[in-house]
Amino acid sequence: MPTIRAASSLAAQDVNFYKSVDANISDEIDKRGERLLTITNDLLRTTSSSSNDVEQLQFGKDHITSEASWRPVGNIIDSIFEKIDFTFDQLNKNNGSSSTNEKQYLEDGGNDSVPHDSNQKISKPQRNFKIPVDNSEEEPFKPRISTKPNSLQPWNSINKLVNPEPVFEDSIELIDPPYYAHPYEYEIDNQPYPDSILEKTEPIPPKDWSTTEATWVETTEDLNKMIDILSKSTEIAVDLEHHDYRSYYGIVSLMQISNREQDWIIDTIALRDDLMRLNEVFTNPNIVKVFHGAFMDIIWLQRDLGLYIVSLFDTYHASRQLGFAKFSLQYLLDTFAHFRTSKKYQLADWRIRPLPKAMMAYARSDTHFLLYIFDQLRNKLIDADKLSQVLFDSRQVAKRRFEYTKFRPVSNNLTNKVSCPIMASNPKEPWSSIMYQYNVPSFKKPVIEVLYNWRDLVARQEDESVRYIMPNQLLVTLASIEAPVDVNKILNAPSYVSEAVRLNAREIAVLIDKTLKESEQNDWAIVDKYNNQTLDQSMTQPIDIEFVNDAFDNLINEASYMVDKISFMTDDSSVFTPKSSNSQTSTYEYNEKDVKRHNFSDISQKRLVNTWNKLCSLSQSVTIPGELLEIEIEEEVEPENDELTESAELEVEEPKPKTGQQVLFSKDKDINPDELITLRKNNKNKNKNRKQLSQEDEPSIDYANADKILIDSTKKQDRKKKRSFDPNANPDAGPRAAKKKKNMTAGRTSTFKMKYGKGNKK
Ligand code: AMP
Ligand code: MN
Ligand code: ZN
Repeated sequence: MPTIRAASSLAAQDVNFYKSVDANISDEIDKRGERLLTITNDLLRTTSSSSNDVEQLQFGKDHITSEASWRPVGNIIDSIFEKIDFTFDQLNKNNGSSSTNEKQYLEDGGNDSVPHDSNQKISKPQRNFKIPVDNSEEEPFKPRISTKPNSLQPWNSINKLVNPEPVFEDSIELIDPPYYAHPYEYEIDNQPYPDSILEKTEPIPPKDWSTTEATWVETTEDLNKMIDILSKSTEIAVDLEHHDYRSYYGIVSLMQISNREQDWIIDTIALRDDLMRLNEVFTNPNIVKVFHGAFMDIIWLQRDLGLYIVSLFDTYHASRQLGFAKFSLQYLLDTFAHFRTSKKYQLADWRIRPLPKAMMAYARSDTHFLLYIFDQLRNKLIDADKLSQVLFDSRQVAKRRFEYTKFRPVSNNLTNKVSCPIMASNPKEPWSSIMYQYNVPSFKKPVIEVLYNWRDLVARQEDESVRYIMPNQLLVTLASIEAPVDVNKILNAPSYVSEAVRLNAREIAVLIDKTLKESEQNDWAIVDKYNNQTLDQSMTQPIDIEFVNDAFDNLINEASYMVDKISFMTDDSSVFTPKSSNSQTSTYEYNEKDVKRHNFSDISQKRLVNTWNKLCSLSQSVTIPGELLEIEIEEEVEPENDELTESAELEVEEPKPKTGQQVLFSKDKDINPDELITLRKNNKNKNKNRKQLSQEDEPSIDYANADKILIDSTKKQDRKKKRSFDPNANPDAGPRAAKKKKNMTAGRTSTFKMKYGKGNKK
């Protein structure tokens, strides 16, 4: 306990500071760090059964900050938990407890290691695609189908570009980009599910897991054979595996299908251009397609394979309606099929061929039991009178449409039904989520932007994921390099340097250097502006109280335009605490667009003190708060990631300022949302609609690559408070410490802290 207490009182980002202060401390820290690492590696070795090929943790901060290097620990912990589960079950069995609930295992406590992306050199399957990948996004995404089986609306009647009419949202006129409609939208809404789905039936157990095997499908003959059998089924289970590291959009790498009799695993890479025939089955309304959490599968199917689903039943939405404790497939398998699966292969490289046995088994287990689960869930839903809701929810999922990022709709009307490769919450500045996540000070925006755009361009050209080209961590590290920037600074960046960055180090160096110089010049232009005008004039001219009041009103008006919503509240909240004294940076809003930096906090501090003094001398009722002037100016016009502006359904309550009390004027991101945010009352319908499709209602897949997936606006409230950013600290200085209460570091949050005198309007 004392050790842990001592350790947690030390903020991790301060360690480098202490090291720089005292050489003895530095040595001691290194020594102990190395010892801890040795112990950890010993533990890893002892715990894992396959002793030779265990990845070891490396020393050095690049390794510690890279998420990938912690994976061995995650893997071992996962497998320990699996072993514990397994052992408990064995124990229960031996104690003679019920045998009907006996569990089956994906692997009986075994622990063969999976080849991971990084170790495997697989040649890119894109090279053999008959239709080359096109990442240019020159026109809206065109459905990859030429015929439309099972149609109510013929294909040629809807195969054209739709030009959306303007819509008004909050009295703003929005015009969505043109798009090709979802070819099966009408059928999904209008084709009835088969009557059989409405009736309770005795659940049909799956074929025995351990004595059956999946059929591998990689030729058109195999495929046709499978389709003939599937056409006679009344319900089938479907799942996909997807690879998204060595490709810009991602590649559907595997499709698993099960009917009551057998399992198929389809090589969707080999058969990429031949799978359209499956639409005969997939859009046949009389065949129920059972998926678990189909929200991305629907997108991947149409994007890569031209496949659509009519009569979808999503067991994820069934789990939601039935109010289960968890909504994962893992939970359903465990509870309704007594099958314990493993997460080990979730992130495996599904392009590997031939597919290793263990991965084959994992893939098969995703659909093998699903119809049995479906039987049981459907019965429960009928009892609870919730089936129609699940079918409704499933249809909304089936109607989701893939669209290129450049044609991402803007209206609420469409935006929920569409999934784009980049779903940044601020589409105009998609890099702002990185700045938010890594607490990058806003004066770095120009560099972040330039690097972000470079990375996106190269990723498109090379058909790689952006995180393969330049992981976010590296992007942020590069953006922190000080001018003058040269190749060596790039190559020696204290972060994992990707191949693409290594090969293009010179170009990147020039890019960063140029951007830094440009934004520096802008800085000084502002310094001059303020020095020459504001200070001098305000010093010499007498101040008119009416003028000050007007100016203040104007400021509030302008600010409300800028920040969308302003809150006024009393200052007993602990989130507004004095900022630390080491501030050297002030940021200014200028021209609504450009964000500038000045290292002249002293000047600005003096100027502010000056202004305050004048204000105070004008009105006796104004007094200066003790900790004087945490005046900073909000730097972003469009705050990207925060609760207050991102979701239209959230609105800020405005508690009336109490006269004589200190009043905050802020859109602070660290305000406890529970204190301030209420659901908008006059917009219930919109809310409801959103709820139905919002990502919170989607499976809790923990996509590391959050940018690529729809952003969950409703969940943001729960997000942990952002960490503080110390612009002077090395951004890679180890894992962040738990946030210290009552201590906000400079440069990040911006508030006007003002005090009102009597008689002032709000
Ligand atoms: P599943 O439906 O669970 O079989 O997942 C389908 C695909 O989604 C996988 O092949 C992965 O590409 C991706 N995926 C699933 N879970 C995760 C996760 N936790 N993080 C990132 N990607 C995931
Ligand atoms: Mn799935
Ligand atoms: Zn799967």
